[in-house]
Amino acid sequence: MKVTRIAYSARLNPGKYAALVEQARRLGRVRSEVWQRYGSILGVGSGLRDRQVRDRWLADGTHLSFGVLANAWKETVRDAMADIGANMEAAKAEVRRAISRRTDDPVQRKRMFAALQAERWAQDPFLARQMRKHWKRGRNHTRDQIVVRADNYNTVVDGCGRLWLSVPGLQRRQMVKIPLSTTVAPTGTLRLILRGGRVEVHYQIDAAQMRSSQRPCGDRTVGVDKGYTEALTDSDGQPHGAGLGVLLTAESDRLKERNRRRAKLRSIANTAALRGDHAKAHRIKVNNLGTVKRDRQAARHRARVRTEIFRAVHRVVDKAVTVVAEDLTKRFAGRKKLGKNINRRLAAWTKGITAEALKSVSERRGSALVPVNAAYTSQACHRCGRFGRRSGDRFHCTRCGVVWQADVNAAINILHRAGDPDIALHTPHHRVKQILQDRTDRHRTRLPVQDSSPATAGRRANHPNRSAMSNE
Ligand SMILES: [Zn+2]
Repeated sequence: MKVTRIAYSARLNPGKYAALVEQARRLGRVRSEVWQRYGSILGVGSGLRDRQVRDRWLADGTHLSFGVLANAWKETVRDAMADIGANMEAAKAEVRRAISRRTDDPVQRKRMFAALQAERWAQDPFLARQMRKHWKRGRNHTRDQIVVRADNYNTVVDGCGRLWLSVPGLQRRQMVKIPLSTTVAPTGTLRLILRGGRVEVHYQIDAAQMRSSQRPCGDRTVGVDKGYTEALTDSDGQPHGAGLGVLLTAESDRLKERNRRRAKLRSIANTAALRGDHAKAHRIKVNNLGTVKRDRQAARHRARVRTEIFRAVHRVVDKAVTVVAEDLTKRFAGRKKLGKNINRRLAAWTKGITAEALKSVSERRGSALVPVNAAYTSQACHRCGRFGRRSGDRFHCTRCGVVWQADVNAAINILHRAGDPDIALHTPHHRVKQILQDRTDRHRTRLPVQDSSPATAGRRANHPNRSAMSNE
């Protein structure tokens, strides 16, 4: 498995930064061109690969208008085609779900899954229709990135021990030298992301080849429930990453307040512009509505949350050789409805980070991650299986007459799902509910038979009469 590492530029001079921004802007046009031509059903229907696109553009002179070096636009074409591919795969996940809903016949399903996999969906009317439905035409939004191939850059350590990264500029043999804030040289293909006057150098390394100062994992099997206040709660009742809730709430409040203020300033600027006071409108835009500080604060917050979540996962792996968790890789249903609700957006985002942390820490430390179907794990009592009432962080089971800590209850249910003979990873939500209800109903009807006290027998005998009466 690959892990992404990020190196940052340190006190890069504005001239160099501006040159990189210009290069990224031009490469953004290349990306837009790729999306424009190949980002739709029709484009991919043509079945072109990035190499063929490159050859075609070289032949017809398209590349001459880009104004960048050959390697730069070629890598960008490859990167954009990969983005389009990922976009299509996301649509395919939806279509697979649609196939499962359409038919129960294993032969039919297999045929359609195979057709989807082998890009033969265009020939099947149902698949083609589904692909058109779920594959919304994408558009390029990336104008601040430069992809640099492994053999196109070099790194040097200067006399003061500072690491310099040299990447190609807009002219041949004119490298842009970027001072980095780390002494670990990046390797492989680099993705330079230009944000707020700083260059982020993203690159990937093999998790297996990482300096392994990692502690070994524990020896137990532990279930975990992801949360908002704590990053994780395990089935022993232990919370991990308890600082997450405070971090997220503070950030959410801060964003709401800032967005409110920015909206106010924007309206002042608009009013000024309408009045003809363009100087004032411009001043506000430049001095008060900039993005440099905002983006830097956002990056800092993201880093803090990641640290908290990764630390929580490490604590769990300290004691577990097997971690049972909700399958977090499933795409978030109703993603589009999140809209401007900052809290829910943050929650959805932390879910992704938690998924990443569980996967990468498990792989690095040698524990196994077992994804399970988490449907109704927070709504059923882990002891009797009945649906209970959840209010806040408490879960109340009327049958047991016990109040559990809601996250702990869920974590134990999740742990039990790993060995559940009836509920598999992809068992649909409504089936899970049915299975859980059947279990408790069976339990209930069996009870009076075991209990032969006269009182119970009497009540049982009354049942038919009562129902007969209610039918009248
Ligand atoms: Zn119960």
